Amino acid sequence: MELLHKGKAKKIFADSKSKKYVVIEFTDNVSAGNGKKKDIIKGKGNLACDLSEFFFRYLKKKGVDTHFVKRLDGSQMRCTKVEILPLEVVCRNVAAGSFCKRYGIKKGTELASPLIEFFLKEDKLHDPLISEDAAIRLNLASEFEIAFMKSVALSVNYYLTVLFTQVNLTLIDFKLEFGKNSDGAILLADEISGDTIRVWNSKGQSFDKDLYRKDEGDITTAYSFLLEKLNETKPNKVLQREEVLYVSVMPKDGIKNPPGEVTKKALIRLGFGDATEVRMGKIFEIHLSKPITSGLIEQLTLMNLKLLSNPIAEKHNVRMEM
Ligand code: UDP
Repeated sequence: MELLHKGKAKKIFADSKSKKYVVIEFTDNVSAGNGKKKDIIKGKGNLACDLSEFFFRYLKKKGVDTHFVKRLDGSQMRCTKVEILPLEVVCRNVAAGSFCKRYGIKKGTELASPLIEFFLKEDKLHDPLISEDAAIRLNLASEFEIAFMKSVALSVNYYLTVLFTQVNLTLIDFKLEFGKNSDGAILLADEISGDTIRVWNSKGQSFDKDLYRKDEGDITTAYSFLLEKLNETKPNKVLQREEVLYVSVMPKDGIKNPPGEVTKKALIRLGFGDATEVRMGKIFEIHLSKPITSGLIEQLTLMNLKLLSNPIAEKHNVRMEM
């Protein structure tokens, strides 16, 4: 098989069957501190592949669009070929790792609600934290793509958190990567394994790569334990999370908007003399029982043109946040 890319822990090969796919091989290489600490740990690749397969299959069942296609022999899987976006998406429930160092927060501090952070994938710069605005200005992702990745990361967080809770484990944080397929759809890609998540038991013991990062234990034992526990879970008992999409419909620029003009006059009458123009539109709040996917947005955009708005006089916008 033709080697397309060799990463720190995975190799990507061309798939002999179709140009639409690649074969991802999970290797036994493990590294930390941007490659400062490096080792080969026998069996790690296979376990990371097993865990990723478990998570991708589970998330697919819950409606998340992933690149996973089929498990192959050994530590390989067939996946949809995607172009990886140069951003790492981290979701945190509890303070740990770089978050604690950056803000001087005590490890184990619970966050009031899940936090999404973006990191620039650039080894030379040590993958720095990047603001959403900077990622957009640098054309690393569009505003819509940023919102889309956040929404999927929050869905993944819900589905994994609930599953881990069934076996008394806590999902502390995790990192996701996304890629675009040949049709431009954004899929959850890369891997989800002990290498990319933090999971603790009720005593605060880790079952993830922190054991390797801090020389505190054997990761193959930890990853095997995670797999064993995940196989005890009942994925069907995890309820679908409600997602909300917002479609705003506004009169196009230059089109007269009588309701807005009436409102403007009323505002001025009430003493709000600073209003120079008021334009009135509408917002549809669409509740869904499945995570948001590129296909769903496409479908909604088509329907929206026909049903929710008048494309001649109005412009519309699909959002994941109000
Ligand atoms: N993570 C990862 N790859 C990276 C950096 C982080 O998979 O290059 C994962 C890490 O395992 C953890 C989460 O992302 O589950 C948050 O990591 P953090 O930002 O705290 O960085 P770290 O302490 O791992 O350097």
